[in-house]
Amino acid sequence: MSDFLNKIKDIILNSLYPENIKCIFCGKDIPPETYICSHCSKMDFFNNDTTRCTICDNPIKEHNIICDNCKRVKRHFTKLTSPFKYKDNVRIAILKFKSDGAKYLAKPFAKFIVERLTQENLDFDYIVPVPSHPKSIKKRGYNPARVLADEISILTDKPVKDILCKVTYTKNQKYLNYNQRQENLNNSITLLDKNIIKDKNILIVDDIITTGATIETCAKLLKSAAKIYGCSIARTII
Ligand SMILES: [Zn+2]
Ligand SMILES: [Zn+2]
Repeated sequence: MSDFLNKIKDIILNSLYPENIKCIFCGKDIPPETYICSHCSKMDFFNNDTTRCTICDNPIKEHNIICDNCKRVKRHFTKLTSPFKYKDNVRIAILKFKSDGAKYLAKPFAKFIVERLTQENLDFDYIVPVPSHPKSIKKRGYNPARVLADEISILTDKPVKDILCKVTYTKNQKYLNYNQRQENLNNSITLLDKNIIKDKNILIVDDIITTGATIETCAKLLKSAAKIYGCSIARTII
């Protein structure tokens, strides 16, 4: 095939299935369904340090079981898990997914999350996405956590339950610490149906986990569930 035709094929495939032929982190051409090129596979993008906090999944010093943060604050969830570290090209890809309309990235991101959930034997009945305020959904066109939850649902055959609702538009949390984030989030999310979660295991889905404050706010509302897990594409390494 001529270069010209190859280019046309790439443009068509790229617009239809960009995740199939390009590395999600650097954009290099790769075989279909590989998602990450060999170069990026060797980078420190994976949150797979051998010692990680058994509650929040943050890397910790050897011989420790839980991190200082989890020792300090009460957690209403059992465990969090995130396959990637929120840094460098991972960060760029997530921002593309969150703010640049790159919804197709949900499929590869979900694949890595589900691989991690399987490795960690996290068994759940329902998937609950962290809600977005209607104003944010209107701005982006979608709630990234919901899109991710849908892909996780396809891969795990577990239903998504939209039982959390963001009722207040919260200001950007980027520069807030854990307590400020909690305060900012309190009363901004409500639970629509507490009966269906009773004694069920719940998986809360978010795009990024920073301090764990958002998942904690959701977990507090879902406290009638048996067990609450949380997952995200990546987590900030504290
Ligand atoms: Zn790459
Ligand atoms: Zn921890």
